[in-house]
Amino acid sequence: MRGCALCGRRCGAVRGRGEKGACGAAGEMLVAQALIHPGEEPPLTGPAPGGSGAIFFSGCCLGCVFCQNYQISQSPGSGEPVSQSQLVDIMFRLKDRGAVNINLVSPTPYVLKLAPAVARARSRGLGLPIVYNTGGYDSPEALAVMEGLVDIYLPDAKLAPPPGDSPGDPDGRSMRLLGVGDYVWVNRSALVEMNRQVGEFTIGEDGLATKGMLVRHLVLPDDLARTTLLLPWLRETFGTGVYLSVMNQYFPSHMVKVGHNTQFRDWPGLGRPLSEFEYDGVVRQMMELGFDNAFVQETGASELLRPDFSKPDAFNWPQGHAHAGCPEISRNESELIGKNRKEGKCCEMRRNDMTSAACLAAMPG
Ligand code: SF4
Repeated sequence: MRGCALCGRRCGAVRGRGEKGACGAAGEMLVAQALIHPGEEPPLTGPAPGGSGAIFFSGCCLGCVFCQNYQISQSPGSGEPVSQSQLVDIMFRLKDRGAVNINLVSPTPYVLKLAPAVARARSRGLGLPIVYNTGGYDSPEALAVMEGLVDIYLPDAKLAPPPGDSPGDPDGRSMRLLGVGDYVWVNRSALVEMNRQVGEFTIGEDGLATKGMLVRHLVLPDDLARTTLLLPWLRETFGTGVYLSVMNQYFPSHMVKVGHNTQFRDWPGLGRPLSEFEYDGVVRQMMELGFDNAFVQETGASELLRPDFSKPDAFNWPQGHAHAGCPEISRNESELIGKNRKEGKCCEMRRNDMTSAACLAAMPG
């Protein structure tokens, strides 16, 4: 029986014998929550009252000190064991509740059981796109298992290497922030492979994503994620047409909460939210680099996007987030910048029209 090598840690746990890996996963799939998630990017969410059919798995290959999902990602024993047939049932229940896709969140440790479950769901007639929503530390072996079963890859690119690093060089910042020193090299290979498998992010006439890769990046205060170096790499590797979602929703969570940050005194930025000034600078850099398809978040998005997995529904969504003076309801705070943004009036937009840059302009303040 071979040891696990599904993520960059390659910790070798023999999970088939019940050994727990560094990610917290053992033999069974553990699901923390399954819900209709209205807070993903517009093409992954669709018009109200739908949303993404999110299945949050317990455990994680990484150990991010600021993780916003730490209650389920870094808490051994969280979640309920589910069999493959139970997982298929969960997918169909989400579909019946109006999900526009099935969004597998932190799936990496479970791909060996997930892959047959997805295949079974498809053979039973589940036609929704399958979204593989990952921190981006997947090994080639894990991605090979999922090839042909994933429609949309939704990986993070959390960090860039420091200037002058050679492939494979360990990074002390990566070790301290994410719990692994080689994140960027595993991540870069994974992104290239995901892009090879599913190609260009594609949005149908109905505004919903059907296939492709959308890369997410959480901007950290004081450029601790080296965003300024990451963006040029993304352009160089995938071109200006790559779909990006660059998020401003950082807040001190988990190990870096106020009162718990003594070990991060040398990085005081971790103890505060991202400033508008910092985020504006990132948006400006994206525009200068000429990205055609970059989702950016409105100021204040972070308040709506803070999960609490101790509650039955981790996201405390209001009945709807209405733009000032606009009758349309928008619970997703991402807007597309770049040349594919359409022009339009605020009140003619639906939240998945990706035209809300005009809506932003119409908002007070
Ligand atoms: S997925 Fe988990 S068990 Fe497998 S190599 Fe990574 S940390 Fe170890």
